[in-house]
Amino acid sequence: MIIAVASGKGGTGKTTVVTNLAWLLKSEGVTLLDCDVEEPNSALFLRPKWEESNSFRQFVPEVDLEKCTYCGQCSQLCQFGAIITVKENILVFPELCHSCLGCKRICPVDAIGDGERELGTVSVGRAGAIRFVQGELRIGEAQAPPLIREVKLRGIVPARKNVVLIDSPPGTSCPVIEAVKGSDLVVLVTEPTPFGLHDLKLAVEMVRTLKLRCGLVINRSTIGDRKVWSYCQEENIPILLEIADDRRIAEVYSRGELVVEALPEYRKAFRHLYQQILTLTKRN
Ligand code: SF4
Ligand code: SF4
Repeated sequence: MIIAVASGKGGTGKTTVVTNLAWLLKSEGVTLLDCDVEEPNSALFLRPKWEESNSFRQFVPEVDLEKCTYCGQCSQLCQFGAIITVKENILVFPELCHSCLGCKRICPVDAIGDGERELGTVSVGRAGAIRFVQGELRIGEAQAPPLIREVKLRGIVPARKNVVLIDSPPGTSCPVIEAVKGSDLVVLVTEPTPFGLHDLKLAVEMVRTLKLRCGLVINRSTIGDRKVWSYCQEENIPILLEIADDRRIAEVYSRGELVVEALPEYRKAFRHLYQQILTLTKRN
């Protein structure tokens, strides 16, 4: 079972939900994939011991100027402007390259060799019984999706029948889509504020476009207004859990602790969340 935890905007409590859920499920054999590669912070709460950490690299064209005839076929093919032929000069912009290998394949004189650049690192470890895989994008790097793909490749072992939890990046752009696709359920985390509702609507639209199921966790449910509840009713979106605005949760979070450990009275709520997830995933 693959459960992605996502949110239309950052700071809604997505990491709180995913890390506390992982802690509760540790006896069931859970894997947590931190796919929020621009700011992976699940590890701050679960403190895994890293077993390996590898640089993740991708192809970029390396042009052999001795062979190149400046025919321009590679530049005409590249949709991303990552390789440009200007008269008797050829320029490569690695940060724009999507590593599709098209330029290498089309080159009639085999002038393009295998260069590479680092997108980030993938680390694998364990936090007690929790298997942990984390991607971390190199500072200044914009292409998160290939790194997220790699984290999922390392973390989702098809033969293993355990629970996989994905800490997805916030928002609704390509990295989020890469993180949530293939999930059995997307748990969206929101706050009942106008901004929260606005971004929730975008997130629901994204999930539905991907033909995935979703349920909602309303964090700090005692602030704001009731428009999120009305929206969920209109759109038939199940509310899986409501977490009241509790100053102690913010304090626990700021100390890098887990709510279910520091405030055991919340265990019941997170167990309830897991039951709701099970009910929803088994229903279809
Ligand atoms: S590998 Fe693809 S994206 Fe990169 S420069 Fe070549 S054609 Fe462009
Ligand atoms: S396709 Fe090959 S020969 Fe033509 S410009 Fe590109 S690298 Fe040079």
